[in-house]
Amino acid sequence: MNALLDKLTLKALNSGVCSGHSRWVTSTAAPISSDNPTTGEEIAQVIPADAAAYDTLVADAQAAFQQWRSVPAPKRGEVIRDLGALLREYREPLGELVSLETGKIRAEGVGEVQEMIDICDFAVGLSRQLYGLTMHSERPAHRMYEQWHPIGAIGIITAFNFPVAVWSWNAALAAVCGDTMVWKPSELAPLCAVAVQHLANRVMADHGLSGVFTLAVGTVGQRMAEDVRLPLISFTGSIPTGRRVAQTVAGRLGRSLLELGGNNAILVSDKADLDLATRAIVFGAVGTAGQRCTSTRRIIAHETIVDELAARLVNAYQQVRIGDPLQPGTLMGPLITLRAVEAMGHALERAVADGGKLLTGGKTRPDLGARFVEPTILRMPAQSEIVREETFAPILYILTYRTLEEALELHNGVPQGLSSAIFTDSLREAEQFLSASGSDCGIANVNLGTSGAEIGGAFGGEKDTGGGRESGSDAWKAYMRRQTTTINGSRDLPLAQGITFE
Ligand code: NAD
Repeated sequence: MNALLDKLTLKALNSGVCSGHSRWVTSTAAPISSDNPTTGEEIAQVIPADAAAYDTLVADAQAAFQQWRSVPAPKRGEVIRDLGALLREYREPLGELVSLETGKIRAEGVGEVQEMIDICDFAVGLSRQLYGLTMHSERPAHRMYEQWHPIGAIGIITAFNFPVAVWSWNAALAAVCGDTMVWKPSELAPLCAVAVQHLANRVMADHGLSGVFTLAVGTVGQRMAEDVRLPLISFTGSIPTGRRVAQTVAGRLGRSLLELGGNNAILVSDKADLDLATRAIVFGAVGTAGQRCTSTRRIIAHETIVDELAARLVNAYQQVRIGDPLQPGTLMGPLITLRAVEAMGHALERAVADGGKLLTGGKTRPDLGARFVEPTILRMPAQSEIVREETFAPILYILTYRTLEEALELHNGVPQGLSSAIFTDSLREAEQFLSASGSDCGIANVNLGTSGAEIGGAFGGEKDTGGGRESGSDAWKAYMRRQTTTINGSRDLPLAQGITFE
């Protein structure tokens, strides 16, 4: 483990407040411990930001913005190109640290770093494509167009379960858009953030920069939401925290970009390829131990195939190798905290009280460690309250439908609206699922599962998921301000709408 920490410039005690290569900011706050969810042992400690350190950091990010906003966007792209190159070099160790600190299996940890690399590549291209529209003016010899400008120093608050990728979705785009940023990672994964900051520092130093990428570990989230110096808060996390952040940011008329919880379902039709569906469901529900925002939590299966599908799933679940996420062959690691284990237990009790029938799993695995659980499937008689909640654990509820209309009603009958999928070989059913009266989610897939999105599309969801979009497509617009410009090239001053004012 020490060799891994050395490779990533981490020590037993690390500063968690930084705005550049030689700008690690001192703080009097008590260190927080980062522990390995597999063993419960401490990996290392991080000193979080106190109020003064936080203020220094925001001031640094604001000062950096004064210069960074005027650097041509393609030149900003060169900085991100170098960040992507460095991430390629550190893919394995950083991926391993993600696995060590969050308990996701190595392949998923490394995959998360690959996602950072992908978004850097995307952002480099984007740095030459921050296009605005031109419009035809109604007035002679007038030209109208819109341009996009950087918005300022922004806040990025991230969840524990994607401790590096979510930062990069925001950071790579925001940087090419000309923003500087303050990152507050989850207290459950501060080491990943410090390791990334070291890499960002190297890139900034190579370009003679500081303050573009800054880090504030600790409980500064509420302060950021209140801070008028941060015009945009990009928040990724649970619905209750996100709701609070959104209300606080709205109270100061700031902008928030929300990526909150999901309660993702897969519809499995009687016309589905059950082989494909089974594989997608197992990856979606068991992968990352059910701790993805896009994890599959509900199966809505046609009454004629539900028994067959359930039997296949139970069989597959019983072969899932649970254990140390860094060991080859492991498919499911631990949950992040003991509280998460308790929350799973409470959810199972409620589901059983609602008439849920346990098909497989349901127990903890103290033989493997205090935070290990079995992936669990319950057959539910109805979509009760607990099924409508997001429990961040590997619980899969199976519901049954007769008509597609009924299936869609169940599907959309939850407060969240992130990811969704249908398995069917019927074009008509697929089209119905994708239509305006189909899935109400931000992501809707056909014949593939709910989790594992590519960076090229806009990522996010509706309703309680918060409505934000990050990553690909035109998500960059969230990090910029739009300016509509009209230029008069004539010697007259015609007014819009033909108004005369003489
Ligand atoms: P969380 O809400 O507990 O924490 C998220 C972040 O908010 C952390 O950095 C935390 O320190 C911070 N925070 C806590 N109180 C705050 C406050 N008052 N003001 C501002 N920030 C505050 O979430 P979590 O347990 O880390 O992550 C799991 C949740 O995140 C799940 O609901 C999951 O679905 C969601 N998530 C969503 C996406 C997405 O893209 N939609 C991605 C990953 C995770």
